[in-house]
Amino acid sequence: MISASAKIENDAFVNSFVQRLRHLVGREEGFVPLHEPSFTGDEWKLVRKCLDSGWVSSAGKFVDEFEAELATRCGAAHCVAVVNGTAALHTALIVAGVKPGDEVIVPALTFVATANAVTYAGAIPHFVDSETSTLGVDAAKLRQHLDLTADWSAGIAINRNTGRRIAAIVPMHTFGHPVEMGPLLELGRDLGVPVIEDAAEALGSSYNGRSCGTFGTMGIFSFNGNKIITTGAGGAIVTNDADLAKRARHLTTTAKIPHQWEFVHDEIGYNYRLPNLSAALGCAQLAQLDKLLAAKRKLAEHYIDGFSDFIGVKIFIEPRYAKSNYWLNSILLDDAHCHFRDHVLQASNAAGLMCRPIWRPMHQLPMYEEAPRANLPVAERIAARLINIPSSANLAQ
Ligand SMILES: *Cc1c(COP(=O)(O)O)cnc(C)c1O
Repeated sequence: MISASAKIENDAFVNSFVQRLRHLVGREEGFVPLHEPSFTGDEWKLVRKCLDSGWVSSAGKFVDEFEAELATRCGAAHCVAVVNGTAALHTALIVAGVKPGDEVIVPALTFVATANAVTYAGAIPHFVDSETSTLGVDAAKLRQHLDLTADWSAGIAINRNTGRRIAAIVPMHTFGHPVEMGPLLELGRDLGVPVIEDAAEALGSSYNGRSCGTFGTMGIFSFNGNKIITTGAGGAIVTNDADLAKRARHLTTTAKIPHQWEFVHDEIGYNYRLPNLSAALGCAQLAQLDKLLAAKRKLAEHYIDGFSDFIGVKIFIEPRYAKSNYWLNSILLDDAHCHFRDHVLQASNAAGLMCRPIWRPMHQLPMYEEAPRANLPVAERIAARLINIPSSANLAQ
């Protein structure tokens, strides 16, 4: 039970938040989604062209074109387009040498696909904490944690508590905000393990001028309908390593040996290739990326400015040296107001303003309760107070 005065305070805060948000989205009434795609370029034209060509499935020129343009755009040497971001992660983990029974370092504060991809590879996610300034993996804390729990003196990193090998580190760029990659890459080198970036949300984001997804051994993107650009469903792996790219391409095309008519597959591969029809949409969307990034930045600035005098709420701002794509804007409730989180969510959604909490941390999900983990106070703290607010590019005025 809450007291009458607490209820009044609660209602006043929640109501004024909803009012402010309604004002800032610039639409007096009606439903405002969290994120909707924007098809204002050649989307119809290229999809039609693809249909007219008859090449809608696993072969066709749009896939090659999409891969080449994406690689150029990120400054990566190679790109392999696949059916979704989860498949991209699954493939990247296998190609990076993650084996059944290994452990993979993953933030507790991520979308469930990051942990699931590790499980698909037969490995076990090992959850680590995040930092408030990036919402991503805290490298210094991770190093401390591994100093206490792992042994990497023999050139191979072993979790002393479980006896399992630590085979990769998978940082994730939350809502497009770049993780501080420098210390993580250094840690990966010290441990002798690859760093694979879950850049599913971070297409167009950069750190010190370099694109997210290109820092680690491999990086992955998602082109799901809610991401900054979409292919309906889709994903991609980027890497500068020709051998890894070749292996990823082979594994995602049922491990078929290219041949004019013969069906020979030399291992158990996956049917993960991106369809040409999706890639046609992707080519048109990629051409819009700069425009979308500009709109997203404008919307973020509008929110930052619009909430600057609002007590109890802070808009998350991109980390220093980073350029975020501002895929989703987030508010953080301060200590005095974080217990209002669910009321804010309830009231804003009831008012037609689609807001969502950040994901429940992975160690609090039933299937990952028993997974190895570090102490996770920051992940839990962020989870208790972060709310995503409507962020479609078309809201920028
Ligand atoms: C969207 C997303 C994925 C998965 O991408 P899909 O294309 O939906 O499979 C993975 N990780 C993160 C952080 C994501 O946001």
